[in-house]
Amino acid sequence: MKAKELSEKERLCISCQKCCKEIFIYTHPILYSCPTNTVVDFYRARGFDVTKLGEDALILSLKHTCPHLTPEGCDIYEKRPEACVDYSGIEDFGDDCLWSTLK
Ligand code: SF4
Ligand code: SF4
Repeated sequence: MKAKELSEKERLCISCQKCCKEIFIYTHPILYSCPTNTVVDFYRARGFDVTKLGEDALILSLKHTCPHLTPEGCDIYEKRPEACVDYSGIEDFGDDCLWSTLK
């Protein structure tokens, strides 16, 4: 059976893999009952990098390699979640996301 032809986005992701190795969570201190600095200190203590955005929003990022990522790539690639197909790393990685070259 002929292998499914890869889209340009799929080719770029296979050569990049950033989204399979790091998690970004966008949050805001208004959601917590403690002060902003406590939220920041707590997540830093848990190993997250914390970046403050405008309007006090926070980005929590954590290196976390997906258990499906192997040296040969995603071991469930043909059946990976649709979220893996659709998720854009541009918000997380900016110009380092290879999809940004498609703009
Ligand atoms: S950062 Fe961009 S190119 Fe890299 S894996 Fe994520 S979506 Fe794909
Ligand atoms: S399931 Fe595959 S494509 Fe999705 S994050 Fe894991 S390794 Fe990456």
